[in-house]
Amino acid sequence: MTGPATATGRPAEALPAPWALLAEVTHACPLHCPYCSNPLELVRKSAELSTDDWARVFAEAADLGVVQSHVSGGEPLLRPDLPEIVAAAHRAGVYTQLVTSGVGLTAARLDGLADAGLNSVQLSVQDAGRVGSDLIAGSASYTAKERAAEVIRASGLPFGLNVVLHRHNLDNLPEIIELGARWGAGRIELANTQFYGWALRNRGALLPTRDQLDRAKATVAAQRADGGPELVWVMPDYYEGLPKPCMGGWGMRSITVGPDGTALPCPAAYAIPDLAPPNVRDKSLSWIWTESAAFNAYRGTDWMTGPCDGCPRRETDFGGCRCQAYALTGDAARTDPACSLSPDHHLVRDPVGEAVQAPEPARPAPSAFVYRYPS
Ligand code: SF4
Ligand code: SF4
Repeated sequence: MTGPATATGRPAEALPAPWALLAEVTHACPLHCPYCSNPLELVRKSAELSTDDWARVFAEAADLGVVQSHVSGGEPLLRPDLPEIVAAAHRAGVYTQLVTSGVGLTAARLDGLADAGLNSVQLSVQDAGRVGSDLIAGSASYTAKERAAEVIRASGLPFGLNVVLHRHNLDNLPEIIELGARWGAGRIELANTQFYGWALRNRGALLPTRDQLDRAKATVAAQRADGGPELVWVMPDYYEGLPKPCMGGWGMRSITVGPDGTALPCPAAYAIPDLAPPNVRDKSLSWIWTESAAFNAYRGTDWMTGPCDGCPRRETDFGGCRCQAYALTGDAARTDPACSLSPDHHLVRDPVGEAVQAPEPARPAPSAFVYRYPS
């Protein structure tokens, strides 16, 4: 038996259930990272969803099959109602991880969140030391992060550290891993910069050399052999000639809900102008997942043209990242330029070549970056 047809004629039962929700509860943040994954046009506080809206989103997400969520921002601790939001997720049976810069995380606040049902915490740090971390964050935040790490460790909640890697901190990777172990993180996500939005705007300042990446890869292999925190490391697509199956394929695993209720298959998809994303204020998450044009736009392989159409990897990487295709070519339906078979591959290959030619990085001046600020 097949279910009701969706906007694309696909039977509803043919769709996988989403299992993850990225809940961007605010775009406000005391930091200004030049690679921030928030859109260039940040949502104002006055447009944010209410506590009740988020409770409904979590209940609908759970009904759809979502089992885990990242409660993120911006800085989610800037929402005074964060315990109520976490409690709503907990009531719905959704695992919640707080994704935080650490600024504003006191023992009392974390106790309140744990009492509300928070399951784990991911803390970000920008470099292994105060000077580098504060430079990249565009704010004096390292001391707050040190204190936050103490608070998280003392809470006993599972603790992950997230570090976005680029030209100006890759050479400090041994010290970054040592910092994570010293702070008590059980897992360290070494997230090579993805060049969308703010990071694309700062690409010239952030692109690493291949030598830096090769040294970092060797460091990760050596540290894994020595034990210690779990290390998550993926080579960046710019340097592999092969795109990533972004988000496990468009509209296949995950839903992002932004601060104003905009629902997207991927946080970077804000930038695709003709997507007309639905909003949870107007439609249920079930309708958004199964029926909306935005979630169906690049699902599966039917939308593909050459060279993806007919390529043996099309069910593996789904043609790569739609947001990267749009950001670099102006057409979200083109093959991801990270792929060496893409006719647009020079849009990735040339800047990588320039980064490789550039001298080994010295500590940059703040003027090297366009920091993330509301426009
Ligand atoms: S990447 Fe930096 S600026 Fe962006 S939300 Fe996270 S801490 Fe804030
Ligand atoms: S041509 Fe398309 S499907 Fe084939 S490897 Fe490149 S991006 Fe993937």
